[in-house]
Formats: sequence, C-alpha cells, structure tokens
Amino acid sequence: MLIDTHCHIDQYPSPEEVILECERNALRVVAVTNLPSHYAIAAERLRGHKYVSASLGMHPLLAAKGIHELTSFKRMALRTNFVGEIGLDFSRQGRASITVQERVFEGVLSVIQDRPRFITLHSRGAEAVVLEGLRRHGVKAAVFHWFSGSIKTLQNVFAEGHFVSINPSMLSSISGQRVIAQSPRERILIESDGPFTKIEGRVCKPVSVALVYQDLATRWGASVEKVADCIQSNYESIVSKCKTL
Ligand SMILES: [Zn+2]
Repeated sequence: MLIDTHCHIDQYPSPEEVILECERNALRVVAVTNLPSHYAIAAERLRGHKYVSASLGMHPLLAAKGIHELTSFKRMALRTNFVGEIGLDFSRQGRASITVQERVFEGVLSVIQDRPRFITLHSRGAEAVVLEGLRRHGVKAAVFHWFSGSIKTLQNVFAEGHFVSINPSMLSSISGQRVIAQSPRERILIESDGPFTKIEGRVCKPVSVALVYQDLATRWGASVEKVADCIQSNYESIVSKCKTL
C-alpha cells in the first residue's frame, strides 16, 4: 500500500477524479485542508471513502481569516484524527502576518494537545519555532511536511520524536536531497503536496508518490516493496496511537 500524507485534493480543478483514482488504486491519502470551513466541505464529500481521509487544517498564510474560525476548529477537532495543514510561515510571504500566525498556531496547539492525532505541519522559515511550540504543548510524533530548515533543527525534530514527509520536488533540489540523506528511515513519510508540486512540468497527483518510493528504493538499495513496508509501518506507528473514533 502506498501512502500520501499531504495532498490538497480540494485544490485540483476536479477533486472527484483525484479521489476516484486514489480509491481505485488503494492509495491512502491524508487530504489536508487550509481552513476549518474547507474541512467541513471535504469531510462531507469524503464520508464513506475507504482510503482518502479529510484533515482539519488552518494554514498559516490564511491566519487572518483563520482566526475567526478557531471556534470551529476546536469543535471539529473533537471528531477527527487528522490535523493539517497547520503551522507557521516566516518566509518573505508570511512575514507581514507573523503576529496573527503565532496567535492562531498557539490556539491550534492548545486544542490538539489533548490527545494523539496524525498532524502534518507547515514550517517554512519557522522550523525551530514550530518545534518549540510542539514541545511546549507536549505534542508528540508530528510530521514536518517539506522540511527546508537547517540540519541542526532537523536533528532536533528527530530527537524529539517527530517525522518528515518527502515529496517529488524534494528529490531534485539540493536542500531536499540533504533532508532525505539526513533522515532516518524510521522517521520518513511520503507526500505529493499536489497540486503545488510539479515533475517535468506536470502537476503532481497522489499517484506521483510512486516516484518518491522508487527514488528511496534506489538510494537505500532496497526493493520498492521494502520501502513501502517501511513507510507503512512508520505511518501506522503514529495512527495506531490515535483514538479510534
Ligand atoms: Zn501543503
């Protein structure tokens, strides 16, 4: 079984087609959302789907809007085991909204600290600050999606029991390759981050995670099946701790 732990299915022109393709291929997908109001729609659409799960999000770059949805986030968090995309963005794009982002992220962390969930994090330019937030709230085994911080912070991410998820764009970038090389096999997950990633000019879909599985197989000198077993066991080590709803 292949797993995509971070895909924005609701951002494709035709989400239904993408969902069908995943269900047909038994491809497990964490369908992240950017706001609780988006999650409400996704959760309704995905009800009864075996492989694609809606994930309750609050994207840092939408924090100004999101702050008005914190009450909804709190209410919806009672019923889901999947949280993300959440986090902070201190890159040039997010710099103007740092204060509101921090308020919103703090609110989100105080909600999700109550019990284990599968959590996928955005941390661009704010990796150490995100890590510190998790530490303060006792949030365990979270997944740093598309990590691009320093190797020192990456080591702290692993030392504190967290994971990273690798996407197709990272396979060809210098910083992505460095993250892959420095990550222990038992802390790696795989994501498409579609539709925001491209391979040879084509927008990635959840099925594109196959490329990452193949790449890791080559790097590790292992079969794709062995890589798939490893990723599945990493994924299950997190979800097995989530309360069954
Ligand atoms: Zn994303």
